[in-house]
Amino acid sequence: MPAIRAFAARAAAGELSPYEYDPGPLGAEDVDIAVDYCGLCHSDLSMLDGEWGRTAFPFVPGHEIVGRIVAVGAQAKGRRVGQRVGVGWYTGSCMHCGSCIGGDQHLCGSAAQTIVGHHGGFAERVRAHWAWAIPLPEALDSRSSGPLFCGGITVFSPLREFGVRPTDRVGVVGIGGLGHMALRFLRAWGCEVTAFTSSEGKHAEALALGAHHVVATRDSAALKRLAGSLDLLLVTVNVPLDWPALIAALAPKGRLHVVGAVLEPIPVAAFSLIGAQRQISGSPTGSPAGMAQMLDFAARHAIAPQVEVFPMRRINEAIAHLREGKARYRVVLQADFD
Ligand code: NAP
Ligand code: ZN
Repeated sequence: MPAIRAFAARAAAGELSPYEYDPGPLGAEDVDIAVDYCGLCHSDLSMLDGEWGRTAFPFVPGHEIVGRIVAVGAQAKGRRVGQRVGVGWYTGSCMHCGSCIGGDQHLCGSAAQTIVGHHGGFAERVRAHWAWAIPLPEALDSRSSGPLFCGGITVFSPLREFGVRPTDRVGVVGIGGLGHMALRFLRAWGCEVTAFTSSEGKHAEALALGAHHVVATRDSAALKRLAGSLDLLLVTVNVPLDWPALIAALAPKGRLHVVGAVLEPIPVAAFSLIGAQRQISGSPTGSPAGMAQMLDFAARHAIAPQVEVFPMRRINEAIAHLREGKARYRVVLQADFD
């Protein structure tokens, strides 16, 4: 295979420009995927800006990939050339540790991350272990499905992981890429859904996306009125919030689940957990089986991310659009190398 054409940043917060690299020989268990579309997740921005201290330059972002398999390693299983697949935050895992054997491959201590020490999906091709190239159901279209592979699974995983019931009241903080998919999933799951947004302009849209109620994220009086009511509160923002008020909004046995990469420590008073037996947790995307289940659920309920599609050569414009908080609700780049 020839070198891969991609878009890379050469320095933290730098513009992306054309870049080519040679991926080397295809591993026996790997597949090569021709990228059709790739979503732009806020994690791409954080990595581009070097916020997490894990970025190697040149840096090719993009980890919400949908494409077609163009090459299959000799020992790849259940994948064939021409098949439509998606790849998210991970491109591999060891497949022999307890987490991998137990079906929690996303918790593998040596999982390979698509944009950490590996070039991502703002490229004409990307490589992954066959198990992490998840087949896309017929009913889902390539154009809007990329965001399901990172943002989508990240907000879907807690529903299956924590046994969320249709009778539960669930809050979603931050109606961006992750948050808007969470509203759609939760509505179809049967829950009573409350959206928390800091953008006044999103109130009506949050209702259309599936929320029953909308609250301004920083409205402390409204938060107080919710005290003791929410079984799950899913935090998708990456900034400090009024944590004591959010914890107080949890019902007995309620859970504050943080998937947004908040870098500042979250202060927790033990008594705010003890009395009502509350919990605080976090999680990274999901396993291949979890992703397949999420895709099935999305297909059954006709759930698709709401996307704005840019040609990949306009990647810098797309990044600026997300940075400025203008994305409604997920930016997707369409590969246009030929
Ligand atoms: P996004 O599209 O930028 O959405 C984030 C949302 O947060 C915004 O739309 C906004 O919603 C809200 N927000 C932003 N600034 C705020 C502020 N100052 N105060 C209150 N709310 C604010 O980002 P995303 O792609 O959904 O990603 C969200 C976070 O999840 C990022 O930190 C990302 O790195 C992380 N992430 C984690 C995982 C995981 O595996 N755990 C996977 C993917 C992404 P409103 O306008 O509604 O307030
Ligand atoms: Zn992501």
